[in-house]
Amino acid sequence: MTKPVKPAIIVHGGAWKIPKYLWKKSIMGCEDAVKEGYKILISGESAIKAVTEAVRIMENNQVFDAGVGALLNLIGEVELDAIVIDGENVTSGAVAVVRNIKNPILLALKVMELTPHRLLAGKGAEMFAAEVDIPKCKTTDLIVGRELKRYEQLKKNKKFKIPDAFRDKHGGTVGAVAIDINGKVAAATSTGGVPKKLPGRVGDTPIIGSGAFADNRAGAASATGWGESIMKAALSKTACDYLAKNHLAQRSATLAVKEMENRWNGLGGVIVVDKKGNPGIAHNTPQMAYARISRAGTLKSGIATR
Ligand code: ASP
Repeated sequence: MTKPVKPAIIVHGGAWKIPKYLWKKSIMGCEDAVKEGYKILISGESAIKAVTEAVRIMENNQVFDAGVGALLNLIGEVELDAIVIDGENVTSGAVAVVRNIKNPILLALKVMELTPHRLLAGKGAEMFAAEVDIPKCKTTDLIVGRELKRYEQLKKNKKFKIPDAFRDKHGGTVGAVAIDINGKVAAATSTGGVPKKLPGRVGDTPIIGSGAFADNRAGAASATGWGESIMKAALSKTACDYLAKNHLAQRSATLAVKEMENRWNGLGGVIVVDKKGNPGIAHNTPQMAYARISRAGTLKSGIATR
């Protein structure tokens, strides 16, 4: 038996220009999630369980662009993407373009646990949800007034381009990374995507190495931001590659975001935990909401600003 290590967890609530009136709610939403995740870790349960639960809690929080409160696509519908990834053998499950599911992260976990696949999309994912007793909801159960208003405004805004969303007001994708007492890492990410996305558009979130990555030999990462640029940069894998080369956790996050910015003009942020439980967070958007509980058990949260 290996000696138990002290667990740690970080969550994020998206990287964009978070308006002041949402700061407190975003921080509180991140704190609620991180505390629950930490409880799970302290009780000796797995990192995969902790990140899934942390993300589920954030999906249920209307403040974030995931689950309830997700933004609407070009035709006013909600299509959700999510991924969980276990650092043990880099095993993952993901769903894309799912409708009428309140907690796509739970469905992603079922894909990982019960199928030979990594990613189920659209109708097939919804059929699978029914098979594994993940409840359906109405589209209206997922839509909040704030997003309906944004949708109506953006419909008229012909000049809007998707990257603008991350420099200005958008909405926060959610994610979590953790290390458990057995030294195993995991990551999870969930999103409603980007404003004005075409129906059927899949972003970085459910793609292994883009929206999340985890490998016990290096650490775990969860990304958020302009998905089309994150995919080019494989942001989460890039951050984990730096960890694997023994860069410090904070430096790995910073280098990965810099690389995405320099090479692809990308926009976004990433949280990481290394295989010793050290945290890192970096973003090149105006703000990024986060909360973390360190190996010493200390809670830190805030709106990281640059
Ligand atoms: N990365 C997400 C996407 O492009 C959006 C976000 O993180 O805010 O779908």
